[in-house]
Amino acid sequence: MTEQSAPTAPESAPPAPFATADLLLAFVNTQSQPGRARDLLDDRTALSEWLASYAMDDDAMIVTDADAAATRELRGAFTIVFRSHVGCEQGAELLGKAEHLLRSYGQRYPLTPVIDSDGCTFRPSHTGIVGAFEALLAAAVDLAARDAWPRMKMCSSSSCYRGFYDRTRNSSGRYCSTRCSQQAATHAYRDRQKKNCATKPTPAA
Ligand SMILES: [Zn+2]
Repeated sequence: MTEQSAPTAPESAPPAPFATADLLLAFVNTQSQPGRARDLLDDRTALSEWLASYAMDDDAMIVTDADAAATRELRGAFTIVFRSHVGCEQGAELLGKAEHLLRSYGQRYPLTPVIDSDGCTFRPSHTGIVGAFEALLAAAVDLAARDAWPRMKMCSSSSCYRGFYDRTRNSSGRYCSTRCSQQAATHAYRDRQKKNCATKPTPAA
């Protein structure tokens, strides 16, 4: 499989402070992006490779194209929620559908609470592909328990489709990288210049 060069791809972000954040960001970033046209969850082979790269596979795992389609559906719901975390304008209906879908996945893939003197965590209840879905949901629960869920975001740049972990102190970050924020500032400046030109009165002859 050949990959395109990535002239516009942002620099790689430092790892998030939690492994669960890294996992979910990697998950949403499997969709095609500038510099990589291929969707990493395109079919069962692609999904198997991705799961293996995150040690979420096991010898007995059977992955189907339907599983790949389901992971793309789950990814889409996470993406919409992460977009909402940057205040991205999107219909409440779209967010409502995503939240409904996530609830239905939660019912389909229940987690197991593990309680001890140090605290309580939720772990996958199964192995195989079912366990892989549960691990993704468990990652979301872990981040919520750490108050880190609102920091899981999609970049606001119109030419970037990456998820990122917002490290700003007041959780106000909107871009995955300084490159994206600088590009957005440049575009905003050009837009203002165009408007100024458009409204500038014609000098008297
Ligand atoms: Zn970006």
